[in-house]
Amino acid sequence: MKITIVYDNEADAGLKSGWGFSCSIETEERILFDTGDSGEKLIYNLKQLNIQPESIAAVVISHNHWDHTGGLKEFLKLNNNCEVFHPKSFSKPTEISPAVYSTGALGGLIKEQSLVVKTEKGNLVITGCAHPGLENIIKKSKELGKIYGVLGGFHGFSQLEKLQKIELIAPCHCTQYKQEIKETYPAQFREIKAGSIIEI
Ligand SMILES: [Zn+2]
Ligand SMILES: [Zn+2]
Repeated sequence: MKITIVYDNEADAGLKSGWGFSCSIETEERILFDTGDSGEKLIYNLKQLNIQPESIAAVVISHNHWDHTGGLKEFLKLNNNCEVFHPKSFSKPTEISPAVYSTGALGGLIKEQSLVVKTEKGNLVITGCAHPGLENIIKKSKELGKIYGVLGGFHGFSQLEKLQKIELIAPCHCTQYKQEIKETYPAQFREIKAGSIIEI
C-alpha cells in the first residue's frame, strides 16, 4: 500500500505547493483523495510524480471546500471515466474499493468524510481538514478496526492524548498544532508534504 502526497501547503523541490490537500492511494486500484485548490497545480504535480490521471479509478472528495475540490474540474477533463464520491455519497462507513473505506459523512454544518485504508499493520486514517474533529473521526474509524496511523489535515485538533496508541502520525495542510504534536510524539511523527511517499 502506497500513499503519495500530491498536493499540500508545502512541497518538495520540483513540485508546486498551494493551500489545499490531495493524495494518491495505491492498493489494487489507485484512488485520488481530494484535489487541492488549483487544477493547474494538481495536474502539474501528478505529472512530476509520474501518476497518470487516467490510471485513477476513483476520486473521493472529503468535503465541499475549495481547497479540496478546486482541481476536480480540470482533473475530470483528463479522466472522465472514474467514479467521484462526494461527501454526501455515504452516511455510514462504506467500502470504496478493496481495502479502502469511507467513514461516511461526519460533522454538523460541514459534512466531511475521511478514508480508512486497510494495511498489514492496521488501518490508516486519511483526513482532508478533519472539520468534524479528529477525535470523532478516530472514534468512528475504530469501528473498522485497529488504527495504525493518521495522516492529513488535522485542523484545530488539540486533544493530543487521543493519539497515544497510534504508531504513525503525519499531520499536514491545515493542522494548527503540528509543532505540539511533533514535540509530544517525536517517534511516531512523520513530516509530510507534496512529494512525500509512505509505504506500509
Ligand atoms: Zn482544507
Ligand atoms: Zn475545509
